[in-house]
Amino acid sequence: MIRQRIVFSLVIFWFREVTSAFYVKAGDMSDYSTNNKRIKLWQSAAEDHDHYYGKLEPGRLEELKQMEAELSAQLAAVRREKRSALRSRPLKIGIVGFGRFGQFIAQTFARHATVVATSRSDYTDLAAGLGVTYVPLSDPAAFLSHDLDVIVFAVSIMSFRSTLEEFAPFLEQDLRRRKELTGDGVRGPLIVDVLSVKEHARKVMIELLPEECDILCTHPMFGPDSGKHGWNHLNFVYEKTRIDKIILDAAQSGSGDPEQLKEATGGKLHSVHEDSEAHVEGVDRMERFLSIWEEEGCRMVPMSCKEHDEYAANSQFVTHLIGRVLGSQGLTETPIDTSGFQSVLKLVGSTTADSFDLFYGLYKYNENSLETITKLQEAMNKVVSKLHAKEEQEQQKSVAAECMDVNVAVAATEEQAAQTKRTGS
Ligand code: NAP
Repeated sequence: MIRQRIVFSLVIFWFREVTSAFYVKAGDMSDYSTNNKRIKLWQSAAEDHDHYYGKLEPGRLEELKQMEAELSAQLAAVRREKRSALRSRPLKIGIVGFGRFGQFIAQTFARHATVVATSRSDYTDLAAGLGVTYVPLSDPAAFLSHDLDVIVFAVSIMSFRSTLEEFAPFLEQDLRRRKELTGDGVRGPLIVDVLSVKEHARKVMIELLPEECDILCTHPMFGPDSGKHGWNHLNFVYEKTRIDKIILDAAQSGSGDPEQLKEATGGKLHSVHEDSEAHVEGVDRMERFLSIWEEEGCRMVPMSCKEHDEYAANSQFVTHLIGRVLGSQGLTETPIDTSGFQSVLKLVGSTTADSFDLFYGLYKYNENSLETITKLQEAMNKVVSKLHAKEEQEQQKSVAAECMDVNVAVAATEEQAAQTKRTGS
């Protein structure tokens, strides 16, 4: 009986192995046995590998390389065409505020555009040296008579509102002049700001500028120090704020998308292709201006003004704050500077090179800045408390160690006394 059972089991085992081998050979992936399941897993893993990494058929790599070369040739042609389109009719750019930053951008703009500058102080000679025409700010009509495509406001944050308040009536007057010359449907210049705070600039421009002027809010995240060797890879933040009288909701539409722009009120979607000629022209002019930054190698970052200010308080403002705090401590070089300390001195140097007006503007017109100061003070207190706590701990330890020593010494003296008593000497 036992022998029969053994033979029966052997037959069953042989049968399963043979059928299993048969299924595998036949490529049937049914879950016949655990063994089969494993084989199935191996096979599907191999298929996945082929799917993701591609079975390199003979000649395929060559084909891919050819496609890659064709695409980069196409890209180069597109870039060439774009560049020649931009150069065929260079923009006329006006700069209001020819201080440290105004001069810095004018120098680069002059390579791409005709530049006219105006400011409170007299910069006639300096402007001439940069290939820039100079008109005093006391004569805005003369400045506007240059038929500017774009006007960049590069005045201090603190004077931005008052400068725009004074400037706006001249823009209105200039629009009337243009209307008389060309008839209806006249458009004003594109107005751009470069302020380091964005919500304030956006609000003021929407409030004060004639609606015929399109608005672009920008913040180049660099300046005369960090950008002195060129603008390559430096961040340029922008929000397309108003085009053809429509205020765009940058937060929702993604301000960088030229295809679909969302009106701030009503949520109406505007498609550039379907929209009016004026709208297309407005977008085109903005793109031409943005292309200058692009051409200079900037990393273009479309972002809402609100989001910009949140980020900037915890990056740019905190940098200026620490630079100013360390600067007011009067740090100077020593004969044994570490590289870390040299970086600290660099930070102090670059932040204090900017005007105090700029620093104050970062504080006053970014609602997130006060919180940054509070957080820094709290963090400072936390770190100092940690140092005090550690010091106290060490003091306690050393007091305990001293007590221990005293106890040991007392015990030893007592023991010695007892011994003396025992020996009677
Ligand atoms: P700033 O001290 O912020 O501004 C100086 C400019 O503002 C000068 O052109 C000055 O004209 C003008 N200005 C000051 N008070 C004025 C008033 N009451 N009325 C009319 N104009 C007035 O220094 P900045 O570095 O040149 O910055 C200019 C703008 O660029 C600021 O909005 C700043 O946020 C922005 N920005 C600066 C940097 C940077 O690294 N420096 C980077 C990005 C953006 P006059 O010279 O004729 O007196």
